[in-house]
Amino acid sequence: MRIPVVSASISSCLRFRPSFLVSLALLVCIPMLTLSCAKAQTGESKHLLIYTIDVEGGQSTLLVSPSGASMLVDTGWPGNNARDAVRIQAAMKDAGITQIDHVLITHFHTDHVGGVPELVKRVKVGEFLDHGPNREDSDITRHDFAAYLKAIDGTPRRIVHPGDTIAIPGLKVVVLVADGEHIAAVPGIKPEPNPYCATERAWPVDPSENARSNGVLVTFGKFEFLDLGDLTGAKEVALVCPNNPIGAVDLYLVDHHGMNLSNARALVDAIHPVASIMINGAHKAGMPEAWQTVHDSPGMQDLYMLHTAEGSDAAHNSAEPLIANPKGITTDGAYFKVVASSSGAFSITNTRTGQTKDYRRK
Ligand SMILES: [Zn+2]
Repeated sequence: MRIPVVSASISSCLRFRPSFLVSLALLVCIPMLTLSCAKAQTGESKHLLIYTIDVEGGQSTLLVSPSGASMLVDTGWPGNNARDAVRIQAAMKDAGITQIDHVLITHFHTDHVGGVPELVKRVKVGEFLDHGPNREDSDITRHDFAAYLKAIDGTPRRIVHPGDTIAIPGLKVVVLVADGEHIAAVPGIKPEPNPYCATERAWPVDPSENARSNGVLVTFGKFEFLDLGDLTGAKEVALVCPNNPIGAVDLYLVDHHGMNLSNARALVDAIHPVASIMINGAHKAGMPEAWQTVHDSPGMQDLYMLHTAEGSDAAHNSAEPLIANPKGITTDGAYFKVVASSSGAFSITNTRTGQTKDYRRK
């Protein structure tokens, strides 16, 4: 465990007390201070930053490349006095960015797209990316899709398809799934037969927007991060069976907040992540079967959770240091910050505790 370098450096900047200095000394020291802090902030400039923002059971994941280019995957919920937009802005501030270049909407459920109207009131967005029209036959989703289109009016919108890339300097971002379709091969990765398909169970056809989720593989040098939104079991299996086009990944954002409708073993075991982050709420998802599947994935070291899954039992919750917002502890949207290097090494910081743990594929 260690305190992250940048936090310590920013803390040391904040500990600076100009009131103790005479004016002349202030004039001398301010340039030094500026230099020192600037150096601290660029200490992460060779890294990919990933923030799994706590939107209380929705998704909002911010990625900031070494070049400062950014992508936000989903925007959380509407309402709550713009809580989720405010939390997104807090992560942006930590990363030192003032606008978001790409906002990828995985699908049109409220916990993913609902935050768009409040976000665009506060943050300049370069473009929105989505899978195309809502195809779910429900009034709430029709309403949320219409609200999304209204909110992004005037901002470029692009519909993405499997195999498309999202241009972020320094990163390779490939769309694996979109609108129910999936990629057969990722450039640079040789699909391999997936040994876990033979024992996979049958999954029901899912007519909801979940099955149409956009999902991306983000590559930074040797580091790979997988985010498939709320993709459900049948589409997960279609993606990785009979051949796995993804290979192994370093960090897995657990599908569908850890719902049992998702996280097929044929997917989770085939990608066998080094670490995983489950973006569950206190009373949303984080289900025992999904937790166990991810926990048991070969080589998986740690399963992080945004909240204690209060509807689950102690045997299917991670240890408290791995939970950002544990039951009974007052927090205000603690989240996980991932700092990844192109070597494949990465660290995960629990912002509640300030503790950081380092990872590298063995
Ligand atoms: Zn969701």
